[in-house]
Amino acid sequence: MFQIEFDSPDSVVGIDLGTTNSLIACMKLTKPEVIPGEDGNRMVPSIVSLPPEGAPIVGNAARAELIDHPARTVYSVKRLMGRGVADVQEELKLFPFHIAEGSESVIRLVLGEKTLTPPEVSALILRQLKANAEAALGMPVTKAVITVPAYFNDAQRQATRDAGRIAGLDVLRLVNEPTAAALAYGLDKRKQGVIAVYDLGGGTFDISILRLHDGIFEVLATNGDTHLGGDDIDNRLLKIALEDVASEWGEDVSHYGEAVQTLRAAVIRAKEALSFALSATVDFTWHGKAYRREITRELFEGLIRDIVDRTLGPCRDCMKDADVTPEQIDEVVLVGGSTRIPMVRSAVEVLFRARPHTELNPDEVVALGAAVQAGILAGTVENQLLLDVTPLSLGIEIYGGVVSKIIHRNSTIPASAGETFTTGIDGQTNVLIHVVQGERELAKDCRSLARFDLKGIAPMPAGMARIEVRFLIDANGILHVTARDGRTGLEQSVEVKPTYGLTDEQVEAMIEASIDHAEEDYQAAQLAGARIDADAIMTATAKAQKNSAWLSLTDEERQAVTDAANRLQLAYHHEDHQIIRAQIDRLNEVTHSLAERMMNTAVNSALKGTHV
Ligand code: ADP
Ligand code: MG
Repeated sequence: MFQIEFDSPDSVVGIDLGTTNSLIACMKLTKPEVIPGEDGNRMVPSIVSLPPEGAPIVGNAARAELIDHPARTVYSVKRLMGRGVADVQEELKLFPFHIAEGSESVIRLVLGEKTLTPPEVSALILRQLKANAEAALGMPVTKAVITVPAYFNDAQRQATRDAGRIAGLDVLRLVNEPTAAALAYGLDKRKQGVIAVYDLGGGTFDISILRLHDGIFEVLATNGDTHLGGDDIDNRLLKIALEDVASEWGEDVSHYGEAVQTLRAAVIRAKEALSFALSATVDFTWHGKAYRREITRELFEGLIRDIVDRTLGPCRDCMKDADVTPEQIDEVVLVGGSTRIPMVRSAVEVLFRARPHTELNPDEVVALGAAVQAGILAGTVENQLLLDVTPLSLGIEIYGGVVSKIIHRNSTIPASAGETFTTGIDGQTNVLIHVVQGERELAKDCRSLARFDLKGIAPMPAGMARIEVRFLIDANGILHVTARDGRTGLEQSVEVKPTYGLTDEQVEAMIEASIDHAEEDYQAAQLAGARIDADAIMTATAKAQKNSAWLSLTDEERQAVTDAANRLQLAYHHEDHQIIRAQIDRLNEVTHSLAERMMNTAVNSALKGTHV
């Protein structure tokens, strides 16, 4: 059997912007996949450090900065998103960084020389994820679905949207994290049911109960603890290890930041290993001294039992609020890295009296679900199932090693196309059908997918035989190739299965190496998109100017709208979509108060419709 990959060219990505870790994912055919960074890591720690000069440091690289430069390194910024200064007094006590004086409604974090708002910090994480995806997919990524906790209020959601905008992402939708988790498991396909999503991450615990009816998820209740998670386990193990080290070495290392950080990393490694093994060792060396301690799972479970138990109360409260009993819960989904701990899994199973879903990586399921939502939206927004397209052209090798493309790149599937070929030699009775995938002109530069012989062709003078080759890609992405002798009706076929044989790099290289001008295509699509949006907002603005609300604006406000509309008119024929976008944004901004005033009129919906 032959393998073929259909990598979705659809650039809508799904992002889990987490407190501890963030991930980006996209659809590959019908399956979501997490996109790793260039270092191969699938998770980007949600840590940002701002050096006095040069680019911000994000992710794993910023981890070291937590020790070296704590005053200009931010973590857990999600806790500050969309909050006012008064809301976060307690939180701030736990952070090493400070907020700028005089900021009341908007928090500004002082990071070395600079001050940044939480959405700006989050935007740096999003930028990193976007860059990772762009590098892996080999194309610009501009549209995203971002997940948020179900309990996030409007301000927190808006702040998340802003972060996306700042990062250069068009946030098509914010999706609740538990909903994303359920989507990742395909639970939407069951149409009806009650789903509990138990999410124990690094620093937060969330329990959500969802009701699914007719494919729509409704959050019945949420509960949790904003300061409960893997960090608590780490802190407890660290405290014990520090005491242990002190008694063994006769030296307290707890005042040395670097020593503490190294020991913390060692206990985290042991903790994570204990999810898969019955014992693990904490290995720590510092200034020539070595410490080594074996921890059994039994000991570990004794140490963390109360932490695990602290998640159960919120679960019971959540069921009460949702007005469901454990018997009424159809599915339980585990989310968050800390649910890898076997003791957590069994506690959940006992409480809900149901075996939880664990097939997917718990720290990836939210991102995977976001990618599923992104795929759904890509289909809806573009008015076609963009999910189901062929990423690369498919064809056969013909005379001279040249490729004859039969199904072109980006064709929606299911797709079917055929072509008729002939023989090159007098009396030829068989032809080799060589199926290739790629954008290059010569078969040797494309990926070979299948070869098969069509034998027993009626002997004919060269050029007289009629060989009909048909390609069919079915809805599952499976390629069927059929070759048929037009005179005898003799037929031969193969099926090419969609598995993931090509790496992202290969696809990227193939697209780049092609004469297909992927970049130009992309620019043209962006330009067309920008003009469509420009048309929509100009029409809406013209309508709004006839609305009574128009007269309620000040002269300055009216002038600003007129100016912005004129500028967009001028930018419209520009070849650079970003110039058009900039004016669309500007017009969007100045028509904002107008839109608000027309809240109850039909015109409003026309205008607001262009704001998404
Ligand atoms: P968040 O949603 O808060 O961003 P994650 O879902 O990525 O966080 O969870 C991070 C937490 O999961 C960390 O505390 C990490 O140590 C923990 N974790 C990851 N893998 C394991 C494992 N194998 N066993 C136990 N805990 C783990
Ligand atoms: Mg999470």
